[in-house]
Amino acid sequence: KLYNQVQDLKGSIRVYCRVRPFLSERSSYVSTVEHIEDGNITISTPSKYGKGCKSFTFNKVFGQSVTQAEVFSDMQPLIRSVLDGYNVCIFAYGQTGSGKTYTMVGPKDLTEKNQGVNYRALGDLFVLAEKRKDNFRYDIAVQMIEIYNEQVRDLLVIDGSNKRYPSVHLILFLTSCPLPVNFRSRLILNQTGLNVPDASLMPVSSTSDVIDLMNLGQRNRAVGATALNDRSSRSHSCLTVHVQGKDLTSGTILRGCMHLVDLAGSERVNKSEVTGDRLKEAQHINKSLSALGDVIASLAQKNTHVPYRNSKLTQLLQDSLGGQAKTLMFVHISPEPDALAETISTLKFAERVA
Ligand code: ADP
Ligand code: MG
Repeated sequence: KLYNQVQDLKGSIRVYCRVRPFLSERSSYVSTVEHIEDGNITISTPSKYGKGCKSFTFNKVFGQSVTQAEVFSDMQPLIRSVLDGYNVCIFAYGQTGSGKTYTMVGPKDLTEKNQGVNYRALGDLFVLAEKRKDNFRYDIAVQMIEIYNEQVRDLLVIDGSNKRYPSVHLILFLTSCPLPVNFRSRLILNQTGLNVPDASLMPVSSTSDVIDLMNLGQRNRAVGATALNDRSSRSHSCLTVHVQGKDLTSGTILRGCMHLVDLAGSERVNKSEVTGDRLKEAQHINKSLSALGDVIASLAQKNTHVPYRNSKLTQLLQDSLGGQAKTLMFVHISPEPDALAETISTLKFAERVA
């Protein structure tokens, strides 16, 4: 039994890598990805002394032709474990343009077929909850926040500056099922969840609820972004799914929590080229991504001291990182030669936490 627990803990951090395809206008390029086999990826690294190669090993590597459905089906057992009371964190890491949002949300022209992990995960939890309904009653609710310059912002607000945007369906949804007064207490906001207790907590019971809320969150995220300042690439966004399951026979309550995090772009900015706000943003991102790497690396090494306090992100997720919680670091790379330096730096980051 103990042996199993130890094995379980050992498997609590996993690292995946996904290579996005060439975007059409760049299809003339030769990929920097030389070879993918099982969990191995080999990158060709041209140098003035001739062609070299670097290999990295992770739990899984997905090549350019792998579909959204295939990626999800690999993550499904991890995601489903939230209904059994586990805490789960999934991070999408990579430089801007490497496919993080594609994996978590999907492309701009979203269809059922190319939906990302967020939609599929919630859809799947509803299906599984329904299948178990003779034995369990599940309450599911979501929060969505953004961390920008170490400041936390609620993305599920429909008041104030965001009033312009709610869809008719969302207003209907919110007014037709107002938050039960005691919903928060019924769900007893998992203190081992997201440490932002005052962020809006929205009960969800169908995929259309989720689509509405995700749309609201995405629109709120875009507010304040100008063409020159694509904030979504410089903030972390986190969709948190709270699940409470009641075993109808024993009355036992299980609570689980899942965080689906689309991280800010990991690219290094050239300090000599940016100043002012851009430099400040870059420093915050740098600091928080390395703090995240430090936390996961020290969990992977089973260190007794885990440096959660070095960034907002790791503070907020402290109770969902480590212990019995399960973490997936999902790194993304572009196949373009232009991106080689960032690709190598992303793979090194991933190797360190693996
Ligand atoms: P990021 O969020 O890391 O900045 P995006 O997810 O926005 O990157 O991806 C950049 C572009 O590449 C988008 O146009 C996206 O639709 C496309 N893209 C990314 N990954 C894939 C993929 N696996 N298949 C097809 N298109 C992709
Ligand atoms: Mg993105």
